[in-house]
Amino acid sequence: MSVAARSPAVRSVSLSRPWTARMGVPRVRMAVQSNLVSIAPMLTKLQRDCATPLSVLRHVADAMADDMRAGLAVDGGSDLKMILSYVDRLPTGNEKGLFYALDLGGTNFRVLRVQLGGKDERVIATEFDQVSIPQDLMFGTTEDLFNFIASGLAKFAQNEGGKFHLAQGRMREIGFTFSFPVKQTSIDAGILIKWTKGFAVSGTAGKDVVACLNEAMERQGLNMRVSALVNDTVGTLAGARYWDYDVMVAVILGTGTNACYMERVDVIPKLQGLKSTSGRTIVNTEWGAFSNGLPLTEYDREMDAESINPGEQIFEKTISGMYLGEIVRRVLVKMDEAGALFGECVPEKLSTPFVLGTPHISTMQQDNSKDLQAVGSILYDVAGVNSDLSARRIVVEVCDTVAKRGGRLAGAGIVGILQKMEEDSKGTISGKRTVVAMDGGLYEHYPQYRRYLQDAVTELLGSELSKNVVIEHSKDGSGIGAALLAATNSKYEH
Ligand code: ADP
Ligand code: MG
Repeated sequence: MSVAARSPAVRSVSLSRPWTARMGVPRVRMAVQSNLVSIAPMLTKLQRDCATPLSVLRHVADAMADDMRAGLAVDGGSDLKMILSYVDRLPTGNEKGLFYALDLGGTNFRVLRVQLGGKDERVIATEFDQVSIPQDLMFGTTEDLFNFIASGLAKFAQNEGGKFHLAQGRMREIGFTFSFPVKQTSIDAGILIKWTKGFAVSGTAGKDVVACLNEAMERQGLNMRVSALVNDTVGTLAGARYWDYDVMVAVILGTGTNACYMERVDVIPKLQGLKSTSGRTIVNTEWGAFSNGLPLTEYDREMDAESINPGEQIFEKTISGMYLGEIVRRVLVKMDEAGALFGECVPEKLSTPFVLGTPHISTMQQDNSKDLQAVGSILYDVAGVNSDLSARRIVVEVCDTVAKRGGRLAGAGIVGILQKMEEDSKGTISGKRTVVAMDGGLYEHYPQYRRYLQDAVTELLGSELSKNVVIEHSKDGSGIGAALLAATNSKYEH
C-alpha cells in the first residue's frame, strides 16, 4: 500500500495530477504547488525520524533483553517491571466444569463462560458478551467502575443455560483479566500500581483490584468468587498453551501493549525463596514502559507531553492502538498548518485530540481504489476535511510510516524477549519450534502492521532461525485462558 515512498516521488506524482479532484473546484495552481513543496519535506522528515533500519531494530532488541534482565534482578531495576504472575500451574487439559472470565481491557469489558470437559471433550461450549466502557467511568470513582463491571457480570450470569451447568455445591469461579500494571501478591490478589491507556479512575491505585471487584459483587448480591487474577498477556499465554505446548511468549497489541513469557525460576534473582513446583513461572514484562533508543518524532514528544502520563509508557505510545491514529492526526494538523494540506485553516474536528482512531488509519490503508475514495470519506466524516487525490496519497503515506514504525518496533521487542530466553536456555529458539501467541484488536485488524512486525522478526533473526519462530494469532485466547486459570486454581478438586 505504500505509495511514493520518498519525497521526490511524492512531489513529482502529486504535481503531475490535475487539481480538480477537490470538491470539483480547481485551486490556484501556484498556491497548490507551493503547498506541496512545503509538505513534501515534512513527509520526508517524518519518514526519516520514524525509520527503523536493522541497526535500530537490533539496538531495541538488545536493550529490551538488557532491561528484562535488570528488572528481574531487583524491583525497580529498569523500565520493565517484570512482574511475577504467581502462575506456575498451567492448564493441562484435564480441567472440568463451568468457569467464568471477566476481562477489563481498555476499550471494552468482556464477560465469558466456558464449560470444560477434560482431556477428551476439552472446550464443550463458550459464550461471551462485550460492553464498551463509558468515557465518564474512565475518569470516575473506583466504586462506579467496579459497580458497572459487577452489574454487567450479573446480567450475563443470569442467562446461563443450555450446555452450561455448575456442579452441585460449587460457587461460580472467575478468572479476572485485568490489563493494567498490578503488583501481584498471590494468584488471586494484586495491587494496582497505576492506571494506563487513558484511565484515571480515582482511588484505585494502591488497592487490591480483586477486593474492589468482590466488594462490588457483594453490593450486587452476586455470589461469585475470583480464583485467579491474571494479566491479559498471561491469560493469552495460558489459553494458547492449552492447545499448543510450544507457546512460550504472549503479546497483546490492542489499545495498549504488553508481553509475557515463560521464565526459569532459577534465573529470577528477585524471586527470593518463592518456590514453583514446575521450576518455571510466567513473567509479565509490562514492556509498554520500555523507552530505550526508540526513534521518536516531535509529534510523539508533543503527544506525550499532553498525555495524562507524560514520560511514561513510551513504547506503548509508539506502537499501540490507542496512539497510532493520534500520531497521524498530529502530523496532518502540522501539514495543514504549514502547507494547507486540506485547505486554508485547520478545521475544528481535525484539531480534536484522538478523533482519528487507529481503526481509521488502518481502513485508509486498505483503500485500493484509484481515487482513494474511502480515504476521502474518512477524512471528511471523521476529520471534517475535503481532500484531493494528492492530499489523500500523502495521508496514506503518513499512516504507513507510523504503522510501519510501530509494527517493526513491536517485532524488535519480541526478538528481544526471545534473545533473553535463548541466552539463559540455549535451544529455546535455536533448537526447536517456539510459538509467540498474539492477541489484541490492533494485531488482529491491521494487516500492514502485522506484516511489518513479521518482517522485522525475520530480518533480525535471519531466515534460518526465524523458521523456528511461529508468530500466531490466538483469538480470544486471553478470555478462555483466564477461565482456564480459574479452573487450575479452583478451590475445588478436579
Ligand atoms: P483492549 O485492548 O481494550 O482489551 P482490543 O484488544 O479489542 O481491546 O483492542 C482494541 C484496540 O484495537 C482499539 O483501541 C484499536 O486501537 C485497535 N483496533 C480495533 N480495530 C482496529 C482496526 N480495524 N484496525 C486497527 N486497529 C484496530
Ligand atoms: Mg484486551
